[in-house]
Amino acid sequence: MTIGGTVGAGDFIADAVRQDNAEGTFSGRVQTRFPPEPNGYLHIGHAKAITADFGIAERFGGICNLRFDDTNPDTEDDEFAQSILDDIAWLGFTPANVCHASDYFDQLYLWAEDLITAGLAYVDEQDAATISVQRGAFGRPGVDSPYRDRPKGESLDLFRRMKAGEFPDGAMVLRAKIDMRADNMQLRDPVMYRIRRGHHFRTKDQWVIYPTYDWAHGQSDAVEGVTHSMCTLEFEDHRPLYDWYLNHLELPFDQPRQYEFARLELTHTITSKRRLAQLVAEGRVDGWDDPRMPTLRGLRRRGYPAAAIRNFCASIGVSKTNSRHAIEELEHHVRIELNRLALRRMAVLRPLRLVIDNWPVNPDGTAVVDWVEVANNPENQDDGVRQVPFSGVLLIEQDDFREEAPPKYYRLTPGREVRLRGAYLVTATDQIIKDQAGQVVEVHAVYDPATRFGRAPDGRRIKSTLHWVSAAHALDATVNLYNHLFATEVPGQATGDPLDDLDPKSREQLTGCKVEPALKDDRPGAAVQFERLGYFAPDPDKPMLFHRTVGLRDEWAKLQARANPGA
Ligand code: ATP
Ligand code: MG
Repeated sequence: MTIGGTVGAGDFIADAVRQDNAEGTFSGRVQTRFPPEPNGYLHIGHAKAITADFGIAERFGGICNLRFDDTNPDTEDDEFAQSILDDIAWLGFTPANVCHASDYFDQLYLWAEDLITAGLAYVDEQDAATISVQRGAFGRPGVDSPYRDRPKGESLDLFRRMKAGEFPDGAMVLRAKIDMRADNMQLRDPVMYRIRRGHHFRTKDQWVIYPTYDWAHGQSDAVEGVTHSMCTLEFEDHRPLYDWYLNHLELPFDQPRQYEFARLELTHTITSKRRLAQLVAEGRVDGWDDPRMPTLRGLRRRGYPAAAIRNFCASIGVSKTNSRHAIEELEHHVRIELNRLALRRMAVLRPLRLVIDNWPVNPDGTAVVDWVEVANNPENQDDGVRQVPFSGVLLIEQDDFREEAPPKYYRLTPGREVRLRGAYLVTATDQIIKDQAGQVVEVHAVYDPATRFGRAPDGRRIKSTLHWVSAAHALDATVNLYNHLFATEVPGQATGDPLDDLDPKSREQLTGCKVEPALKDDRPGAAVQFERLGYFAPDPDKPMLFHRTVGLRDEWAKLQARANPGA
């Protein structure tokens, strides 16, 4: 049902399932669901919920449904629903069934009539503001609505006419009759139905009344036969209401149970759909799939492997306490995957010409081309080798040459010998060419013909190995480097508005980069490691645009070493 790497998700929830199975609750059946509202794109927080929902089902031989929680016609649409289907598939999960809360609108309506008939729900004709004031507050009891004790028959008649479209939007609501003095605010006669003339993307204009989240959710679980219904901690105080509704209805299956776990928060990241939508609407990013966005589309374009996201979610598990994980921990999982997958390639981001003075020429005067063989991925022999053209004029990084080398600078400088990766050892001469601004634009070197493939035959020690490309063979490329979208660990902590902490330099675009020709023939979309620079993902739409997924250094290992010295 899923690709590997999800086992381990769920901790206290797995314990609850194990206990249910031991006691024979649900006759050993395990069924979960992932219930997104189709009003935005999925983000890394949803990945945690998805991994937990699908992971628990998988671990215990059960099934997990995708259920669109489509009870709000004003904000939802099919484009979002499609993207959610797509993102879940990309993440590596296959829902047993694709369901919609709107599939159950008829059943929910009938159940609501049952509650009215049982004297457990009533139509309230007061406006929303009045109802809100009457609910009271924590520690201050609510006040009964003057409509609370109206005859059942009257409520039933009004409810039917609400459905038939006889009243304007907001004229009245259906409320459960529970307890206006309950300590738990959720139990103070919650609203079950509102009148709202919105065009629903599936049921079109069939309905003018819509169920609230609380009335739709548990009942949808019950219709589908869900056993363990997981949601985030802010719904903990909704659980008594979830149970109350189900306790008063005739259910087709055993009564499902709700479990709550902590939301995923990451440093330098926000996971509020509303805020992410704001970033897009205000043009602060290029769209929902901007590689800086924590949406699954953004992370995918950035080059995050789905397995890395699954492994991260499985490794943090689910818990009952809110905490913020370091984004470096997620990046650590990305690096583990990419180290296995990424083809090694050479790219020069800020090119400097390097001329090899003693490089041979052919009888016709053209420079000899030596195709040196370099491994595609030293971590995976199966990836084989490729031939990289080496010739008399190369490009190296500007940073890899200094006219005057500072202390501990071991890269190229006049008189110093370095290794050009996979090719030859070269020694820089004094010949340096500068432009009018005094900027070094070309340096010269001599190579040692006895060092092909970068081997020093006499074992002489070479302190640094540089990446390079052949000027005549290199391809033009554009490279996007990224910092975190938000400069601070907890965006908005200082001012209350996370957007105040956007890093204006979160993207640096480098044009005029040069990459080795093998990139032209690589499998489309294949992740690469540009040697010494990081892991990069080719853009799916723009040819020869590469996004830096992550750098090479494992910052997470460093953070952990600092947290546990001596471990
Ligand atoms: P909204 O504010 O629009 O309700 P939401 O983030 O709750 O946004 P839903 O589409 O309702 O979005 O979420 C679907 C499921 O994903 C829910 O079960 C929700 O609890 C879970 N979820 C959402 N955000 C996170 C998060 N940051 N960490 C873990 N689970 C999350
Ligand atoms: Mg929600």
